This record gives sequence, C-alpha cells and structure tokens, in this order.
Amino acid sequence: MDSPRTQSPRDSWERQSPDWREKLEAWLRYYNDLNLGVFYTDRRTMGKRPIHRAALNATPAELPSVPPAAPAAIAVGPPLSLSPKAAPSKPHPPAPVIALPVVNPTSLFEAIDRVENDSLDRIREDLGDCTRCHLHKQRNKIVFGQGNPRAELVFVGEGPGHDEDMQGLAFVGRAGKLLTQMIEAMGLTREDVYICNVVKCRPPENRKPEDDEVATCSPYLFRQLDTIAPKAIVCLGGTAAQALLKTKDSISRFRGNWFDYRGTKLLVTYHPAYLLRNPAAKADVWQDLKKVMAHLGLQPKKSSR
Ligand code: URA
Repeated sequence: MDSPRTQSPRDSWERQSPDWREKLEAWLRYYNDLNLGVFYTDRRTMGKRPIHRAALNATPAELPSVPPAAPAAIAVGPPLSLSPKAAPSKPHPPAPVIALPVVNPTSLFEAIDRVENDSLDRIREDLGDCTRCHLHKQRNKIVFGQGNPRAELVFVGEGPGHDEDMQGLAFVGRAGKLLTQMIEAMGLTREDVYICNVVKCRPPENRKPEDDEVATCSPYLFRQLDTIAPKAIVCLGGTAAQALLKTKDSISRFRGNWFDYRGTKLLVTYHPAYLLRNPAAKADVWQDLKKVMAHLGLQPKKSSR
C-alpha cells in the first residue's frame, strides 16, 4: 500500500477541475479589480501576512518579502465577467492601474475612495467609456451627474431612467420635474445644487441596480461627494441611502433623520418617483426638506406650504 503523503496546497489546486479553477481565477481577478486583494490571506501564513494585490499578478520571484503599505490605486482596465462561461480561456492581461495618492485613510474603503487633488473632470475622465459592469451593454449615455461643482447641497438618486439615458443628464424625466419643484420650493434652482445617482448607467426596465453594479459604480459617486464637499447630502430613496450608509436596512429606518456620511450631514427622503405614485407622502418629504433648509439657512419660497 502506498504510504499516505501530506497534501500540499499545489496538489490540492491541481486536483481541481479546470472549470473550477477557471471560475475561481475569474473571481480572484474580479476582486483584484475591485482593489480587494488585501483581503486574501495565504492559508499557510494565515494571520501573519496579507497578500497584496500586486502579488496576484506577480511571479514568485517578484513577490515582496515585506508587504507594501495599503493600496492607493484604482483599476481602470476592462471588466471581468462574473459568468464562469464567459471567463477568458487565455490568461487575462493585468488591468492597467492608475496610482492615486491617499488622504488620511481611516479604513480600507476610505483608502480606496479618497483621492488627493481630485476633481469632477478627473473622475469623469477615469470613468471613461465605462464597461466595468453589465449595465454598459444596454445604456445609451452615461449619466455622470450635473450641477454646481461647489454645491452646498447634493441630491443622490438611484440610477438613470429612460429620459436620463437618452439625454445623459440626471433627473430630467417625470421624477426629475418633481425634483425640480422640490428644489425650487426650497428657494434654490437646479443650478445651485448637484444631482447624481448611485449608478451611472440605466438598469434595464428601470430595475434596481444589483449589488455588484452598485459596488462597481459607487466609488465614483464617493469621489464626486468628496470633491464637491457639500454641507448636506439628500438621498432620494432607499438605494442611495443603502449605498452611502453601507447597509441593507430599509428606507423606513432612515427617512427624515440625519446621518453622518464621512463628516457630512446626510438625510434620507422618499424618491420623487415614489411621490408620483404616492402623492400623500409629499407632506413627509416637505418636512424632511425643511430640516435641510434649516441646516443650510434657507428660507422657503412664499408660495410653498
Ligand atoms: N430616477 C433616479 O433615481 N435617477 C434619475 O436620474 C432619474 C430617475
């Protein structure tokens, strides 16, 4: 009888089916593109040494003996499909990476998101003709967001609808017209504020964006908010609240209350599309907007309730 021999990690890897290995490699590349490489630990050195994302593309000889500092880079390369069938059979070329300086990171997420000397133009340029998630396949135009780059107030919606997709502008359809009325009731114009969304491409049939679409797109929203540095953020609906507060709780837990978003006051109210279906909820929204106005020192227009 053959004597049993200890199984090395390489044996165990090679015993897996090519299909399984290809699938796992596709996931690893996906997490690598999301800059989550530091979450991987080598099981043999578990608890001792995190594997840096650069290691995922390096040959053994190139591996650093001491891990470098926390990553400060955003991958801008082609997207990787999550579907194992669509995973490339040849090795995927490493995504080109733009190295970005980090401002006082207090967590891994902040290390990824905060970019020194950032600007809306630079964020738009980094976004490019984005194909990082599936939403690009059916979009007509990317809806980056628009308004005053120095706005004291930013509205964040869910994602573009049909009209926004056609025009490349946020909130220009029916819900957008109601948002304009809300802004004007606060004594402001659309040019005074900044308006954007969690995802920048229209989800098919106006469905809610999927978690992976939000995860892929929201770092650009975080950079927009950091760059504009408003005094208040108003989340229009649960999707925006969940993305910015990093929670899955429903809007009923948040609506009408102030939260802190990285040092900025954030209030959640109903989405204008919800108000089109439930006009009675407009009274609640007006109460919410009055809180925002008090915070910004604004007086309501005479004609408003
Ligand atoms: N709904 C949104 O959430 N965003 C838009 O831009 C338009 C409709």
